Amino acid sequence: MRADRDVIIIGAGAAGLTAAQYAARSNLNALLLEELAPGGQCLIIDNLENYPGFPDPLPGIELSQKFEEQAHHFGAEIQTYSVHAVSKKGKLFTVDTDNGALTSSTVIVATGAKHKKLGIPGEEDFSGRGVSYCATCDGPFFKGKRMLVAGGGDAACDEAMFLAKLTDQVIMIHRRDRFRAQRALAERTLKNPNIEVRWNTEAKVIRGDGKVQEVVLWRNDKDETYTEKVEVVFVFVGSIPQTQVVKDLDVQKDEGGYIVTTQRMETSVPGLYAVGDVRATPFRQLVVAAGEGAIAAHAASQYIDELKGEAYN
Ligand SMILES: Cc1cc2nc3c(=O)[nH]c(=O)nc-3n(C[C@H](O)[C@H](O)[C@H](O)COP(=O)(O)OP(=O)(O)OC[C@H]3O[C@@H](n4cnc5c(N)ncnc54)[C@H](O)[C@@H]3O)c2cc1C
Repeated sequence: MRADRDVIIIGAGAAGLTAAQYAARSNLNALLLEELAPGGQCLIIDNLENYPGFPDPLPGIELSQKFEEQAHHFGAEIQTYSVHAVSKKGKLFTVDTDNGALTSSTVIVATGAKHKKLGIPGEEDFSGRGVSYCATCDGPFFKGKRMLVAGGGDAACDEAMFLAKLTDQVIMIHRRDRFRAQRALAERTLKNPNIEVRWNTEAKVIRGDGKVQEVVLWRNDKDETYTEKVEVVFVFVGSIPQTQVVKDLDVQKDEGGYIVTTQRMETSVPGLYAVGDVRATPFRQLVVAAGEGAIAAHAASQYIDELKGEAYN
């Protein structure tokens, strides 16, 4: 049976858009499926400083638009549908979407990752009313207010720096005694006069009356608890890989739930590839995601050539 598509790519972040561009340039019949707007996490990056080829800081949304433009330019087709599941029968994949099922010879999973929650009392109650996971989206509503940022990685530092442009009262708490963020970003965060960093500190309860008013904090090295008055809590404490689409396949994952692949982005299921933040990788960045997208498209193209070779023999 002939597949509807050579390759279906799931998720239009940096990884998926690059895979689509490379697949289209390789003359594959490629379809990119995205449940929201193309761009993924890149859309919420305020100031991108480390993407090669762009020496001046640029908003993530601009880079996303360039990724999309380039994918379109080479003929990649992007459709706005959510993918529910991928299954495989013989050599054919079936991709179940909001708009019915499609078949393909290969699938590239580029579904990225979503933010982790603190999991403390008050977090759910005040979500959207003073608890946020996106500084660029919600920061402007709290201009000039006292803000708390939880986290110590790249995303936490990046977002705290953005918030420090809106207020001179950013308190940043991190449960360890140093940042996990890249050195240059960590140093700039520490030097920012509008950010006060509190090490070995964890949020325990978020309280308020209709809106956030205070957070109970715990010094984990001294076992001291105190209350801090703030009007908003921004949470950037890590991410969860979005692997639901492959739940019906026997795909190998690491202990964190990220999809394990070879250097060619091949998963444990032949013809299925994983790229970007959903993949078990030591470094989750745009340039890495884009590079992996290119490798997967190349590997998928070779796999399809082999399948066609088998069909002719
Ligand atoms: C605040 C913040 C700041 C950052 N700063 C930097 C930085 O300065 N430099 C840098 O290089 N990196 C930075 N990063 C990391 C970078 O954004 C990510 O590494 C990169 O965006 C990962 O790209 P991706 O394509 O793998 O996944 P994502 O960008 O997460 O894209 C995945 C896409 O898949 C879609 N999707 C998921 N499930 C489905 C489904 N079932 N059906 C259809 N579509 C689906 C999603 O809607 C999404 O659009 C930052 C991240 C954050 C959150």
